[in-house]
Amino acid sequence: MLHALSFDLEEWYHGDLLAPYVAAAERRSQVRDAVRPIIELLRRAGVRATFFAVGEVARDHPDLIAELAADGHEIACHTMTHPNLWRLTPAEFADELERYRAAVDGALPGAQALGFRAPMFSLDKRSHWVLGMLRDGGFRYDSSVVPVRTPWYGVAGAPLGIYRASLDDPGRTDADGGFLEFPLTACSIGPVRIPTAGGVYFRLIPYPVFRSLLRRVARRRPFVIYVHPWETYAATPRLPLPLIERFGLYTNIRHARRRLERLLQDFSFAPVREVLDV
Ligand SMILES: [Zn+2]
Repeated sequence: MLHALSFDLEEWYHGDLLAPYVAAAERRSQVRDAVRPIIELLRRAGVRATFFAVGEVARDHPDLIAELAADGHEIACHTMTHPNLWRLTPAEFADELERYRAAVDGALPGAQALGFRAPMFSLDKRSHWVLGMLRDGGFRYDSSVVPVRTPWYGVAGAPLGIYRASLDDPGRTDADGGFLEFPLTACSIGPVRIPTAGGVYFRLIPYPVFRSLLRRVARRRPFVIYVHPWETYAATPRLPLPLIERFGLYTNIRHARRRLERLLQDFSFAPVREVLDV
C-alpha cells in the first residue's frame, strides 16, 4: 500500500507560536539549508513527496520550487504568509490564494496546485468556509484536518480515513457535496486516538513504537505523514518560549532526519495527489 509523504515548506519562524517572539529583523531565511538534506535523502531513496509550500518561500526561492518539481515532487499550497485561518475573513483568504498563485507562477509558470494544507492545521468548524473556496478555486483536495483534539488544534471525532468533508463542518462527512479530505494520521486504540502524522509525536514517540502504530493504521488504510524541514535541521534557532511550546517545537530535532530515513525504508510513499488519485 502506498502512503502519502508531505513536507510543509516554510521557514523556522512561520509557526503561530513563534510569531510573538521573532521580530521582523530576526526573520532570517534558512529554508534552503534545512531542506537540502531532505532533497538528497529523497533522491537516494527514490521517493517523491508533496511539498505544501508557503508562497513567501516560493517568491523568495523560485529555483528551489523548480528543483523540487523537476525531481517529481508535487507542489501544493500552504497559503502565502502562513496565517491562522481562524483569524482570516474570506476576502483575506482569497487574497492569500491569489498571492500564492502569483508567487508559485514565478517558479512554475502555469502550475495549478491541486492540494491545500491549512497553516497550523487551523481548519475546523470556525474556518469551514475555506473548503468551498478551495473547491471553487480549482483545488482537488485538502489535507488539514487532525482528527484528534490536541492542545493546539484538532477536530475531535472527525473521520480517520480519507473522506468527503462537509463544506459546513470539515469534521463531518458529506458523501455527495463534500470536498476530498485526507486527514492527518491518527491511530485509534480503543477509545484513544494517538496522533501519528508527524510533529512532536513523530520526534518524541520511540521510533519502533511509532512504526508499530503506523503499521496498525496501514492494515486498514493509507496514511499521510508531514515533516517540517526546520524540525529536522540542527541549526534551527531555539527561542526562549514557554516550556510546553519549547518542548513541542524542539524536542529531538537532532534525531528527526534519521527517523525520516527509517520511515522511508519501512513504508512505501508517494505524493498526496497520487495516493488520492486526483
Ligand atoms: Zn505550516
